[in-house]
Amino acid sequence: MSAILNPSVEKYIRNILSNNTGVLYAMEEYARENHVPIIHKEVAALVKVLTKTSGANKILEVGTAIGYSSITFAIAMGKTGSVTTIERDENMCRVATSYIEKLNMKERVKLIQGDANDVLRHLDEEYDLIFLDSAKGQYNEYLSDLLRLLKNGGILISDNVLYKGMVADDKIVLKRKKTIVNSLRNYLTAITNHPELDTCIIPIGDGVAISCKKQGGIISEQS
Ligand code: SAM
Repeated sequence: MSAILNPSVEKYIRNILSNNTGVLYAMEEYARENHVPIIHKEVAALVKVLTKTSGANKILEVGTAIGYSSITFAIAMGKTGSVTTIERDENMCRVATSYIEKLNMKERVKLIQGDANDVLRHLDEEYDLIFLDSAKGQYNEYLSDLLRLLKNGGILISDNVLYKGMVADDKIVLKRKKTIVNSLRNYLTAITNHPELDTCIIPIGDGVAISCKKQGGIISEQS
């Protein structure tokens, strides 16, 4: 359970959503057995719907782990569409690559091994959708690059923004998590007040923020 939603509501939602089979199911098992954090089932359902309804064809992901969400995005885009995904951990990259190859998705899922802080600075293409799911304390540092890389009208999805509820409630913040919680609070303040973004926060999974980069830039909504 994620500690954000009422447990019975969360259980109900997870039970009613259909289960994966094949490689995605095998990846869920691998993640469970090896304690690799991957997107929650209800978050996977949300990102699939957002990918399909937005018609995204070019996706950037920060934080690949074993490639579960990258592959979820690639499947949601249909037969075309590409995902560029960034991961700094060598072992994770190795496992992700094996799953990507197993699904013959090497052409569509491009894995870049490196620290997102460096990699993002060097990317210069525009993306329809960006999924942010790496170290939670660093989201704010990426924001200006992510906005530069997101096309007008594009979607920025940020995962784990409520961080087991600690972001919303000082009383449950563990001492060792204070820095991460403060940086997530700063990130949420930044994206909810940013003149280029419309943002909503959805309390499913570990908290998901969905932001849309305004079509006409900053002035269109004020005029
Ligand atoms: N998105 C994946 C999924 O749902 O299948 C899960 C990603 S996991 C929550 C976060 C990953 O981000 C970890 O594998 C971690 O090694 C990676 N990561 C953390 N900080 C990073 C950084 N600065 N640059 C690149 N990867 C990073």
